[in-house]
Amino acid sequence: MTDWIAEEHRYLFQNYGRQPVVIERGQGTRVWDIEGNEYLDFVGGVAVNVLGHSHPAVVAAIADQAGRVIHTSNLFYTTPMIELARLLVERSGLDRAFFCNSGTEAVEAAIKLARRWGHDTRGGAFEIITTTESFHGRTMGSLSATGNQRYREPFEPLVPGFRIVPWNDLDAVRQATTDRTVAVMVEPIQGEGGVNMPAPGYLAGLRAWCDERGLLLIFDEVQTGIGRTGTFFAFEHDGVRPDVMALAKGLAGGVPIGAILARDEVAAHFVKGDHGSTFGGNPLAAAAALATVREVLAPGFLERAREASARLVERLRSLEDRYGLVTEVRGRGMLLAIGLARDCSAELVDEARRRGLLVNNVRPNAIRLMPPLTVSHDEIDRACDILEAAIRAIEGAFSK
Ligand code: PMP
Repeated sequence: MTDWIAEEHRYLFQNYGRQPVVIERGQGTRVWDIEGNEYLDFVGGVAVNVLGHSHPAVVAAIADQAGRVIHTSNLFYTTPMIELARLLVERSGLDRAFFCNSGTEAVEAAIKLARRWGHDTRGGAFEIITTTESFHGRTMGSLSATGNQRYREPFEPLVPGFRIVPWNDLDAVRQATTDRTVAVMVEPIQGEGGVNMPAPGYLAGLRAWCDERGLLLIFDEVQTGIGRTGTFFAFEHDGVRPDVMALAKGLAGGVPIGAILARDEVAAHFVKGDHGSTFGGNPLAAAAALATVREVLAPGFLERAREASARLVERLRSLEDRYGLVTEVRGRGMLLAIGLARDCSAELVDEARRRGLLVNNVRPNAIRLMPPLTVSHDEIDRACDILEAAIRAIEGAFSK
């Protein structure tokens, strides 16, 4: 039998810390490896698989679209993209959509749009304020916006024009604002930074400051969008609407796609030839996205996801009450993290996997849970039982 992990080590760049599982297929919250072992998938493709694996509506939409036309380029009109734009515009209260292929591309588009708008209307202002511990992507513009030094330093010099201020500190944003500032960009909940919640009033304070100073407020909802936090967009929790929003991950239920949404007055500054991509919003990705978005917006879907989240949080809180290793449960909806008393998240991830649960270590002292929004109460209970056994194993190892 082929040793796929050895083959990967031989033929691929070694830039990922992959878990030693070769996944062959998935169904709902479950995946199976090539040896037939079954796992509960609480990584969910890093917040991508909002409907779980191989959801019938997504599979049917992809198959149907693939049989019609897969790709035509943006030299022509295609209907799935236009329908998708309408759905996203109607839900967001923003006016227009642009499609690309990933989260980092969506952020790049948002950065370019903000600069274009500053060029045209703010005397060439171009600086964008972002926050510490933020994650906006790995291409040069998005990386330059990313607050985590670990990702940035080896790739300097980065793109100029970003000011990084402490997360959850409104005064720092005010102080960093100059005549050259054009926008403030934040994740409504920081995902890769460790699932860090915004302080009460933080997002509203940013909105008020941007309004006062004539700045764009950009929300990077790449991780938080499409129901992940219990509402379709995370900004709905706070009632704070951005001027520009970046989306990706969950949007097409697993097919690569990215998008930005913007207010009319801002979107109008991208004129013909300013920005684009060959694949962006292509019929296959857009059809998968349409099917995904329709499911998530169907009556009762988000209510059920919120109920499942409440169940999961309750179970995790009971671990917090009973095990010294668990210091905190944070996050919202199906974007949750467990804080640990020690830097043992990698060991906990391994222990959980050996028992049939896939999770992700988002920090040395925190694991992140991002199951499909469709996860059942029974799957939540089984996952939490496994997590508890894994925590016991780790606590046992440390007390020896
Ligand atoms: N922004 C946020 C908030 C993200 O979480 C991510 C991915 N983790 C990105 C941007 C980049 O997305 P992608 O990996 O699709 O480029």
